[in-house]
Amino acid sequence: MKLTTFSHAGTVKAGVVVDDTIAVCVSGEAARDAVRKLIEAGDEALSRWRDMAADPPETVALSDVDLMAPIPEPRRNIFCVGKNYHAHAAEFHSSGFDSTGKEAVPEAPVIFTKATTCVIGTGEAIRGSLDPTDSTDYEGEFCAVIGKRAFQVPKPQAYDYVFGYTILNDVTARVLQGKHNQWLIGKSLDTFGPMGPYLVTADEVGDVDALELETRVNGETRQKASVADLIFDIPTLIETMSATMTLLPGDIIATGTPVGVGLGFDPPLYLVAGDIVSVSVSRIGELSNPVA
Ligand code: MG
Repeated sequence: MKLTTFSHAGTVKAGVVVDDTIAVCVSGEAARDAVRKLIEAGDEALSRWRDMAADPPETVALSDVDLMAPIPEPRRNIFCVGKNYHAHAAEFHSSGFDSTGKEAVPEAPVIFTKATTCVIGTGEAIRGSLDPTDSTDYEGEFCAVIGKRAFQVPKPQAYDYVFGYTILNDVTARVLQGKHNQWLIGKSLDTFGPMGPYLVTADEVGDVDALELETRVNGETRQKASVADLIFDIPTLIETMSATMTLLPGDIIATGTPVGVGLGFDPPLYLVAGDIVSVSVSRIGELSNPVA
């Protein structure tokens, strides 16, 4: 199922996308947190949504709504992975902004977080004007969303703990990322976390290694990679993180960005007002945001 949170005629709703319509499952203020609560509630709740999608009490046309992030207000920070594609690791390491360590390709996953308050939906503006350093950059990323409490999960069982997948644009103020050493400030400016357009359940996505990610700026392709090219794959990330820290239902893990970020060009191609940046992943959809 493709799960969505959206605004329709001034009301927040959540539901399931079926072709070009949405089966509405929750309406009103509770809808803002409905997808995360659905994940937390488990299989029975998911079956109820599946039934409602098959025989919906209310439908709205997809073209009549403003999509929000599928989880507009995550319960805690988004977990992100740095330098997780070989060519991007080299690109970033040689940029002068890499404060993580001596080696280009890390021996263990580089994990950082983005504040929940940076999340926006597809179509909403990335406020590049909030970046006082004019170094706003895009990072198209494939995300796994955790389905149940996960502690000390070994790799072979890791996919049992994945509820589904979405897309994140890990928008970054590069100069702030370098200046503050820890990446939180440079990664967490308000609106710097476009997410969506949907959260697609794992059963509908199937083999993630078959997925292709592409980022375009004003229609020009900047990043193109296969999820199979991740240095640390999703089972490795879940095993590593859950070894000492409980992951919770609804936690979002952004798996890292491939080569082709604006920083990698000479001179850098940072985002400017008026740009449109789009990240698409096969079987998930396209996340597209203007820059203001
Ligand atoms: Mg990133």
